[in-house]
Amino acid sequence: MTTVGIVGGGQLARMLALAGYPLGLRFLVLDPAPDTCAAGLCEHLKAPYADPQALEQLAQRCQVITYEFENVSLEAIQALAAKVPIYPPPSALAASCDRLSEKNLFQSLGIPTPKFIPIDSFDDLKQASKILGWPFLVKTRRYGYDGKGQHLIRTAADVEAAWERLGGQALIGESFVPFQRELSILGVRNKRGQIAFYPLSENTHKHGILHLARSRPDDPSSPQAQDYARRLLEHLDYVGVLALELFEVHGHLLANEMAPRVHNSGHWTIEGAETSQFENHLRAILDLPLGATEPVGLAAMVNFIGTVPDLTDILEQPGVHAHVYAKAERPGRKVGHATVRAASEKILEARLHRLFKVLP
Ligand code: AMP
Repeated sequence: MTTVGIVGGGQLARMLALAGYPLGLRFLVLDPAPDTCAAGLCEHLKAPYADPQALEQLAQRCQVITYEFENVSLEAIQALAAKVPIYPPPSALAASCDRLSEKNLFQSLGIPTPKFIPIDSFDDLKQASKILGWPFLVKTRRYGYDGKGQHLIRTAADVEAAWERLGGQALIGESFVPFQRELSILGVRNKRGQIAFYPLSENTHKHGILHLARSRPDDPSSPQAQDYARRLLEHLDYVGVLALELFEVHGHLLANEMAPRVHNSGHWTIEGAETSQFENHLRAILDLPLGATEPVGLAAMVNFIGTVPDLTDILEQPGVHAHVYAKAERPGRKVGHATVRAASEKILEARLHRLFKVLP
């Protein structure tokens, strides 16, 4: 029986396991938290992500290893890759865990980005508007997620407060993009180089956290997004699911960031696509043929943030599916999601409207 190792035992690991059991797979997750939510489904190695003994166990017991977030130790992943196949390739992790190297990679592949500069000192920050204009964003290069570790600088008066909050770490400055839409493209590539793309997701955030992701089959921006994602997949000799987050400005796309893993904006693929992103990630890393990525009707995903709503209210609605991650409820934490499906935009809109009424 094939055992897949997953570094990180959160909801992404949980949903990978749920997709993998029908394929006869076993899972071993490495996570320091005693109550990590994949532990209810998978064997759990409770140890720090870079713990040498735990990594050795993963290498011994798993035929292939993947990871579910970018803030894992790059050095630990690289060391593991010498012993056991690990996908997506550590080179993708290396590029994506530092916002500066990520944007340099985009540029080297001809993928447009917002203007950006490294910020290494208070003086760099004071001078940044000369290149970036006003307003601009300053972000930590590492360990940022869900809008954490960033500060919007509207005028020179904001510079000092931003430095007080974020100074002392490696930073990047980015011009503020007045986008019309935020989109993400999810692509998947297997070891033989077969590539497939899901329909674009159109994403709405609240307080920096993804709130709503809608499938957009046949979107006019899809060919451009696929072209950019394909450049990354091929350049990195990538294996697995890759998410590329994009800003759309007057029909043009700018790359914001990439995630070398399954992604929150693709959760709708569980019910809204022929093969989910989770199953396709597993198929890719196991060198199996990819499943069809065609949409099944229209779909939208709404995150449950902080609390899980009453399931009766959710499940009595037609076309609505609930996913509860079995995590402790805490403000700002993703604890589950609902997927709404419909055959037409009009019906989807009405179903979303009803769903929002029962969400906290
Ligand atoms: P990030 O952590 O880079 O994904 O940023 C979180 C959210 O902040 C994004 O989804 C956007 O809504 C917003 N954001 C990030 N960078 C920019 C930018 N350069 N211009 C405008 N909005 C941005």
